[in-house]
Amino acid sequence: MPNGVPTPITIACGDGIGPEVMDAVLMMLAVAGAKLEVEEVQAGEALYKRGVLTGLDPAGWDSIRKTRVFLKGPITTPQIPGAKSLNVAARARLGLYANVRPCMSFHPYVRTRHPRTDVVIVRENEEDLYAGIEHRQTDDVIQSVKLISRPGSERIIRYAFEHARANHRRKVTAFVKDNIMKLTDGLFLRIFQEIAAEYPEIKADHLIVDIGAARLADQPERFDVIVTLNLYGDIISDIAAQITGSVGLAGSANIGSQCAMFEALHGSAPMIAGQGIANPSGLLMAAIMMLVHIGQGEPAAKLHNAWLKTIEDGVHTADVFSRGVSRYRVGTRQFAEAVMERLGQVPQTLPVVGYASDRPALDTGIRISPRLVAAKDLVGVDVFLHWSAGGPDDLAALALPLAGDAFELASISNRSQKVWPDGHADIFCTDHWRCRFMARNGTVTHADIVGLLSRFAAAGLDFIQTENLCNFDGKSGFSAA
Ligand code: NAD
Repeated sequence: MPNGVPTPITIACGDGIGPEVMDAVLMMLAVAGAKLEVEEVQAGEALYKRGVLTGLDPAGWDSIRKTRVFLKGPITTPQIPGAKSLNVAARARLGLYANVRPCMSFHPYVRTRHPRTDVVIVRENEEDLYAGIEHRQTDDVIQSVKLISRPGSERIIRYAFEHARANHRRKVTAFVKDNIMKLTDGLFLRIFQEIAAEYPEIKADHLIVDIGAARLADQPERFDVIVTLNLYGDIISDIAAQITGSVGLAGSANIGSQCAMFEALHGSAPMIAGQGIANPSGLLMAAIMMLVHIGQGEPAAKLHNAWLKTIEDGVHTADVFSRGVSRYRVGTRQFAEAVMERLGQVPQTLPVVGYASDRPALDTGIRISPRLVAAKDLVGVDVFLHWSAGGPDDLAALALPLAGDAFELASISNRSQKVWPDGHADIFCTDHWRCRFMARNGTVTHADIVGLLSRFAAAGLDFIQTENLCNFDGKSGFSAA
């Protein structure tokens, strides 16, 4: 956007305290000199009640697609059958692949046991178990599919390194569970290591997510930027926000290649709505991230520094007010006025913030490598069964004659534990079985698999799922039985 021309943005006040904190934030943005052309749309409870199941109507979606920037107030999660969280809908519809959540302590002005916390969590937003692919397969077992893609991983990891570079951060740590999920989390880690090599000035390391989360909760100052998969990121970003002692002060960004959405971490706080006491800081932090995203670094830094000075001066809303630390207990509007009075000032002990004024939105630089097409050989098939008429040896006796000329029955497992041949007698078995058939002569065809399944059907065996077993460039593309 050329100098002085306002950037169009879409806003939705949302529910509960949303309208009061949005009013305060818009006032601060205007006085700080942000150049914005604001288009307001309705979102949340009122729309859900009218049967709009995403909480945002077509006019709202059109506005966001046009402005490509959405500042969103908190939304009360609907208790209406079929209704979807607006956050989940927005991430999917707008391709918001990166969730970025800076978590920082404001010691000694806001109480925390971790005074040196200053970490950014970059969470993949679209894949993993959040794909929501779930099936009930048997009486006993329900399955949820974890999907990890090379381009999805590459994009989020590169985004994390670009974010680190642009914000002068020194280290990026990946959290994975590749010791257990060798293929999915293993892919994420491999891509992390490939991309880290492109950023020699940034230190890169990785931790298993369980010990990583424990260290984050105990010694957050060890971390700078953390990049991780969707589910781990969901959990650790709440841990990181909580340990700063100030969940109400944090904002987050959801970034896509076309659109971006900015919001506070907190919800609609219905118990205090309409009282004029809500803290507008979470939404203000989100708005500051938005200004940086659209290249208005100057008003972003001015607002951020004035806000830090306000916090330092002990001007606090009730949620962070603490005797002996805070000096003035103020409402939403007085807090915003205190920030506006301090525009042009900088904090005395908290670090002063600076943002480049002309930096373009980060996602424009995110590159994805061309697809690597491998030589793929079909070498077997896993046939999953719903079956409860006996034990492993009984099932093997039924399955062995069905293998035909193309296959041999290699193993049977139950909940991933091998139970045949040579299974442990004490393994508890459910009604969910996997028969692994491998090619007798190197490879098989789809027609061979169809033939195998026909024989299962004729034998009255209830197959519930098959997974082709393939080698890619000669390397196994499936986990061991
Ligand atoms: P909440 O964040 O609304 O409130 C938790 C506690 O923090 C309450 O005591 C509340 O009074 C306080 N609080 C929150 N924000 C505050 C602020 N800005 N200033 C002062 N105090 C603040 O969480 P909740 O009560 O679990 O959820 C309320 C509703 O919001 C639910 O419907 C929930 O699903 C929804 N929610 C929405 C979002 C979102 O839109 N992104 C996020 C979280 C929760």
